[in-house]
Amino acid sequence: MEKGKVFLVGAGPGDPKLITVYGLECIKQADVILYDRLINKELLNYAKPSAELIYCGKRPGKHALIQDQIHSLLVEKALGGNTVTRLKGGDPCVFGRGGEEAEILADAGIEYEIVPGITAGIAAPAYAGIPVTHREHASTFAIVTAHGREEKNQDYIHWESLAKGIDTIAFYMGVGNLPHICAKLIEHGKSKTTPVALIQWGTTASQVTVEGTLESIVKIAEEHAITHPAIVLVGEVVNMRNKIQWFEKLNQENFLHL
Ligand code: SAH
Repeated sequence: MEKGKVFLVGAGPGDPKLITVYGLECIKQADVILYDRLINKELLNYAKPSAELIYCGKRPGKHALIQDQIHSLLVEKALGGNTVTRLKGGDPCVFGRGGEEAEILADAGIEYEIVPGITAGIAAPAYAGIPVTHREHASTFAIVTAHGREEKNQDYIHWESLAKGIDTIAFYMGVGNLPHICAKLIEHGKSKTTPVALIQWGTTASQVTVEGTLESIVKIAEEHAITHPAIVLVGEVVNMRNKIQWFEKLNQENFLHL
């Protein structure tokens, strides 16, 4: 039997319209779709009726399928001659283990493509009215995971470089670590008054944004019960929101997108 091919596809950050044209094609053509928790499930309506849909969702601290099982399934389904689409939230290579899965496929001699997606750290701010760069306020932007490798309880972040060298920082998986993030940035020289936004369920109808500063945001997050998934965005660009906020102003029921 001829080997199938795997497409490692970014589904975008939440709004189903934010998938790429090519990503959608990969959904339509797939015999098997392995999908993660954070993808918009509406996208699965585009799958062939005969397509096999496999949920590989993970919740913080819990795993529906462990990563090894996902690897085995990808290989097994592709070796079975299927066109396989591995659908991940945002971009597959931004904290999405796309690289690890591509390595497994390369080792197994299975053909694959990587189809980028719009990552939450850029899209959620954009929908909150915050451009991650701006000619006057930010010329450097970093994407950071607030989680190291889970099995090692180590802090891999070079806080001083981040605090001193980067204008806008998007922390992924950061809500649980918010007190630590704020404390470290202040300790390493970021001003306590640096603006911070938390954007929960960005680009979806449930999007919620709260704002504060490195000093105040922990309390504000608690008051608003902000939870996963959310982007923690640090930097002066957060202030732009006062002027260019748009998505949350729209009447969501009439909103064409969702
Ligand atoms: N590959 C994904 C990121 C996966 S890591 C991407 O490129 O976007 C999961 C983290 O992404 C979450 O903890 C959260 O910080 C962020 N995230 C994903 N979707 C989000 C959304 N709709 N709104 C806010 N944050 C989101």
